[in-house]
Amino acid sequence: MTYAEKVSKILAKKGYVGVRAEDFGGAVRLSGETDSWEAALEAGRLAVNKKRSRGVVNDIVPRDFIPEPARMPGITDKSLDGFETDVLVIGGGIVGAAIARELTRYAVKVAVVEKEYDVATAQSARNDGMIHAGIDLKPDCKKVKYNVRGNKMYDALSQELDVPIERPGQLVLYTARWQKYLFPFIRLRGARNGIPVYPVSPEGVKEYVREPGLNYGGFMCPSAGVVSPYLMTIALMENAAHNGAKIFVDTAVTGMELKEGKIVSVDTNRGTIYPKVVINAAGVFSDKIAEMAGDRHFTIHPRRGVEAVLDKKAYPKAKCVVGKFVISGSSGSGHTKGGGVIVTIDRNLLLGPSARECAERENEATTREELDEVFEKQSRLAPEVKRSDIITYFAGTRAATYEEDFVVEKSEVTSNFIQAAGIQSPGVTAAPAIAEDAARWAVREVLGELRKNPSFDPYRKGIPVVREMDKEARAKLIAENPDFGEIVCRCEEISKGEIIAALRTPLKVDSVDAVKRRVRAGMGRCQGGFCQPSVVKIISEELGIPPEKVGKKGAGSEVAPYPKKGGGV
Ligand SMILES: Cc1cc2nc3c(=O)[nH]c(=O)nc-3n(C[C@H](O)[C@H](O)[C@H](O)COP(=O)(O)OP(=O)(O)OC[C@H]3O[C@@H](n4cnc5c(N)ncnc54)[C@H](O)[C@@H]3O)c2cc1C
Repeated sequence: MTYAEKVSKILAKKGYVGVRAEDFGGAVRLSGETDSWEAALEAGRLAVNKKRSRGVVNDIVPRDFIPEPARMPGITDKSLDGFETDVLVIGGGIVGAAIARELTRYAVKVAVVEKEYDVATAQSARNDGMIHAGIDLKPDCKKVKYNVRGNKMYDALSQELDVPIERPGQLVLYTARWQKYLFPFIRLRGARNGIPVYPVSPEGVKEYVREPGLNYGGFMCPSAGVVSPYLMTIALMENAAHNGAKIFVDTAVTGMELKEGKIVSVDTNRGTIYPKVVINAAGVFSDKIAEMAGDRHFTIHPRRGVEAVLDKKAYPKAKCVVGKFVISGSSGSGHTKGGGVIVTIDRNLLLGPSARECAERENEATTREELDEVFEKQSRLAPEVKRSDIITYFAGTRAATYEEDFVVEKSEVTSNFIQAAGIQSPGVTAAPAIAEDAARWAVREVLGELRKNPSFDPYRKGIPVVREMDKEARAKLIAENPDFGEIVCRCEEISKGEIIAALRTPLKVDSVDAVKRRVRAGMGRCQGGFCQPSVVKIISEELGIPPEKVGKKGAGSEVAPYPKKGGGV
């Protein structure tokens, strides 16, 4: 019996009468109709067998569901028509950014297209920013391989790109006394995957958490760390641009032309591009890109995670990342690490994330219900935390495949196509390692060898952070440039000088949120209530655009600032 026939039988037994399974180039494709998208999702899960099929392609049409089209850029022009490059990276998240930078180590021409108004707006801006140790990951999957390698690369990246990271470790707390007997197995898994881990007694827990909500002891993963995921993405992309990569935002891939198993051209809203190699790093749309490239053997089913951000004064109630021990399959969806309490690199506490399957790929809405769920669940780990500590919340959508693993490979079907697809958590951690492999495959395809770029410069200087400077350094900086003495965002102590510096970096940006991700103006308690009009004014003056044309997040999101008495904004 073929694997597709077996899947058909399983689905029929479960009552999926309108669903068919067929072989699809080594993967299994499901088609037909179900009553709901939840049923379609479940059918997809039932079809997984990593040993017998390359993946699940789920084309079931749920009767109750009309898919939302992808958000598209507002611009249509021909400015990129005829553009040629050696390698084209699709997607400006952390994976695309790490790949672009890695490619610039070699003697190839590199371009990145990102459909949004800036890099780091999707998953890569909407996550916990944890550099995971990887102890919870199943052995022998791509996730663990790239997580462990990527984790180790973060110290060098931090130094080269001037992006701070910390390694406070992750304390995993048992939820029942008997769980301590599982520690030998955890240590064994750690040893097998190269992940250090040691036991922590109930007494030891108190060294890390002042008032632990749970205390049966646990274990510590010292290699776990924290980073600002959007700052790292921006820094990687800035360094790629500094080394010659061309970064095109507001540019969406809409189709491809293939001839004899090769991509010859890529259509975008700004014209047709001619790359020698294409790399798919398109996050929740990576299966759509794979389809355009003729090598779809997986399907993304989005899984939303909601996070609550707490005021800095809620710090330091935990000295490290704290999570609960999750036995595989016991955390709701069974495909999450269970979340926790994260002390971010910027000293906020983060509670979350939740994990909910959702039908829409770009649904970044937060609901009261999910936020309550996150707070109830995670505040058990930090009982001192109050609801009034929450200053904001956000949601991100994970690019999950049915196999719950990354798709990182050189295509066997389309000779000049590389996939870094289905990168859900721990994609921030894994990105640098994924980038090494993807870049090498691409360069070999273009040049036939790994010829280096002799002028590659791995270094990037970050924007000075006034709030972290001692008096002397601050005074020196202000003497050189008085703009650094003018505080615009009072909550986060961000100066005018920092905002102007953000507008002069290699990736040209012109919106309030792009500035916010670069220097944190508007990320404090008041969430921009005070500083937003001033930020708009600075963007307007620096870039010479009228204030009423300054957007919150690109074209069509203009922030109409309140006029001040006597004019101005
Ligand atoms: C709630 C949550 C918490 C998480 N926590 C962690 C964590 O603590 N640690 C960790 O390691 N990982 C974490 N992750 C996972 C991590 O965020 C992702 O794995 C990682 O950001 C994926 O990066 P990416 O570049 O593949 O995708 P994305 O950041 O989603 O980037 C893909 C980009 O492709 C663009 N794109 C899509 N289609 C097109 C097109 N047609 N043309 C042009 N551009 C296109 C999109 O606009 C997008 O910007 C978390 C994820 C979530 C959602």
